Amino acid sequence: MKACVLTWGCQLNEHRSEEIEGLLQAAGYEIVSRPEEADVVILNTCMVRQRAEDKVIGRLGELWHLKKLRPLVIGVGGCMSQGRKEELLRYPAVDFVFGSANASEIPGLIERAMRGERPVSLPRPDRMERLPVRRRSPYQAYVTIAEGCSHSCAYCIVPFVRGPLRSRPMGEVLAELRELAAQGYKEVTLLGQNVDAYGLDLRDGTDFASLLREVAKLPIPRIRFTSSHPAYMTPETIAAIAEGPNICEHVHLAVQSGSDRILRAMRRGYTRERFLRIVEALRAAIPGVNITTDIIVGFPGETEEDFEQTLYLIREVGFGTVYVAMYSPRPYTPAATLPDDVPPAEKKSRLEAVLEVTRRIAQEINERKLGKVEEVLVEGYLQGKGFYYGKTRDMRTVLFPGEEGMVGNFVLVKLERATPGAIYGEPVKEPVA
Ligand code: SF4
Repeated sequence: MKACVLTWGCQLNEHRSEEIEGLLQAAGYEIVSRPEEADVVILNTCMVRQRAEDKVIGRLGELWHLKKLRPLVIGVGGCMSQGRKEELLRYPAVDFVFGSANASEIPGLIERAMRGERPVSLPRPDRMERLPVRRRSPYQAYVTIAEGCSHSCAYCIVPFVRGPLRSRPMGEVLAELRELAAQGYKEVTLLGQNVDAYGLDLRDGTDFASLLREVAKLPIPRIRFTSSHPAYMTPETIAAIAEGPNICEHVHLAVQSGSDRILRAMRRGYTRERFLRIVEALRAAIPGVNITTDIIVGFPGETEEDFEQTLYLIREVGFGTVYVAMYSPRPYTPAATLPDDVPPAEKKSRLEAVLEVTRRIAQEINERKLGKVEEVLVEGYLQGKGFYYGKTRDMRTVLFPGEEGMVGNFVLVKLERATPGAIYGEPVKEPVA
């Protein structure tokens, strides 16, 4: 039987799909990349914004047409199923529904669906499953260090659909990393809703700083981590990032707004001033660190003046990249009870204003790097453009002419031309093994 896993949402979901593929492969399925070739299609969904849900519903419509042509079993899992529950059965394409923390049940649910049932299994997302992993890259890997979140930002559905913070024991995380080191992985990204809150639920002194110190001893050239929350970023963690030779100089620190009034309404748990002090401490400890962030525009009650404070903060910090989204009310969240009073057109123009400012800043930052020679991990080849591409340690995208066999290796590239989204360069002849 052939199975295809479709993924929406964050890197945690991307990695969860690698686990679902590993589980199905271990159960004897052949993994294919297109639903058209599959007997079973699994949708691993996201519910962080309405748009993510709309995309899944659109895909279910397409799959329904495929299903009318031949036998096809379709299962929906992940955050949207944990949030929308049995509602998903109203889509005729759906044969079974599973949650965000019980993927191990999928093979059994497929068998029940093939017997004509439409099972729904949605246990409380309060467990950590260890599933076989079918990694999609032989040189870059994800490792989930914690699931769920116990912070309750007013707009966020994550605590409801992914459950409370559950950190993996450090020994287990390090064992998985040692395996990856032994397999020659060049880059590993540690994943969690708030990686810097890692260990707080273990109550045994484990924390993110101590994990980073151990990880820094492993023979893996590059270690990345995402996403960090300002409320949990400690001086110990900043020191561990700075002193870890393989810990990359990039920190994704989600700020969401530059207005203290809105940060309070969002229940983020820090002030603008506190955020600026963390940025200062990061820059003092890690020269050239690339700080990227998330911004929500149009949160209920956000005035023009609040928004100006967000734009001002973006200019003041000079983020390398800003991921901006328009506020989208989510069910069950405290903010869902507030009037969504910022008009859609206003949300759109605020989003465009953020994109405009961040594009200008990114251009300036990338121009400052011109003339330098930087190490790039080659990730692929852009057919249309005829360029290889990859990332520097501080998470800048670099495009350059290259040759067969470079993918998965480090090369030195002289940076020559800057755009907001990428830097163009020339490889310096002696590749770094
Ligand atoms: S920290 Fe806030 S935004 Fe992030 S996952 Fe938790 S509740 Fe959501």
